[in-house]
Amino acid sequence: MAELNLYQVKKDFGAVTAVHDVTLNIADREFLVLLGPSGCGKTTTLRMVAGLEDVTSGSIHIGGRDVTHLEPKDRDIAMVFQNYALYPHMTVYENMAFGLKLRRFSKTDIERRVKDASEILGLGSLLKRRPKELSGGQRQRVALGRAIVREPQAFLMDEPLSNLDAQLRTQTRVELKRLHERLGSTTVYVTHDQTEAMTMGTRIVVMRDGVIQQVDTPENIYHRPANEFVATFVGMPPMNLLTIQLESQGNEHWGRVGRQRFSLPSRVAHLLRQLSSNTVTMGIRPEDLSMGNDPGVILNASVRMVESLGHERLIYCDVEGTSLVVRAANDWQGDLGETMSLCVREDRLCFFDPVSQRLLG
Ligand code: ATP
Repeated sequence: MAELNLYQVKKDFGAVTAVHDVTLNIADREFLVLLGPSGCGKTTTLRMVAGLEDVTSGSIHIGGRDVTHLEPKDRDIAMVFQNYALYPHMTVYENMAFGLKLRRFSKTDIERRVKDASEILGLGSLLKRRPKELSGGQRQRVALGRAIVREPQAFLMDEPLSNLDAQLRTQTRVELKRLHERLGSTTVYVTHDQTEAMTMGTRIVVMRDGVIQQVDTPENIYHRPANEFVATFVGMPPMNLLTIQLESQGNEHWGRVGRQRFSLPSRVAHLLRQLSSNTVTMGIRPEDLSMGNDPGVILNASVRMVESLGHERLIYCDVEGTSLVVRAANDWQGDLGETMSLCVREDRLCFFDPVSQRLLG
């Protein structure tokens, strides 16, 4: 297994820069997820690591070896795509063995590798079947099996679950995670699915327009987003953002929005020193807002819309012209237009510079 290093990797397609100077150090055995909206450069980054796309500039090292200008076949990596075309006329065994035959592995070696991979993936009883006799999830496992038998230094996966239905997707996600725990192989995994990113990644890289926004643990990406883009891209519904004015007198600090004024923690003094004005953007996760007057920051809100999701309700409120969403239990009873107090614990607040949109800390 191996570590993977990208150093100032850039990709231009004509006048379009798809990936801007990406530097990433992926540790041995890490499961790194590239997450971002469509067109942000995730696939292009992965394809450059695989050698399927030339880099415009920068370098790529796998296991300490400079592979920047090597052919894909010489990089010792295996790639699993969204469209895992299996050979329809071949059995599961033959599909998994095919790549090894091409590479002229011995018959005994091929048998051992296919046997090991099929045990890991629970395909042992299906080896004689052809792809059309398999379910979508089983086919995807065969595609994974083809990658595993290569015993590569690293796995590259591009949305491998996106062709599966929701239930199978959840099941295969869990299987993939177990597989990683068992094989410990360095993996780079592209997705735009936040749940996959949060549950599988040892670290997540959030990208936007070819630029890395944050590289961090799922926990930090969620609770300490580096900027407003990450705050609102990760989380469903996204983090609420409320622009407030800061007021201070001695050691006392308040936030003001419209006609409302509320007390703020003393760490605000430290934030004020980082700002060019007294305006700041306050970020609050929908689940951190509760209804009532618990200790913390209190906002007065009026209910605008309620959505029931079965297991919970989303309450859309207005606070001085800004819409905030609150997660509430499904038995929440309230009326449109009703006014209420919303409360958030001070340690749950994030503050962003309204100009740079960066997290203040
Ligand atoms: P998605 O989630 O939709 O797959 P992505 O984040 O993987 O998106 P990329 O496929 O890497 O994004 O594309 C990044 C940018 O590069 C996009 O603007 C895309 O249009 C552009 N691009 C990708 N491949 C090419 C190409 N072969 N020629 C020209 N432009 C390309």
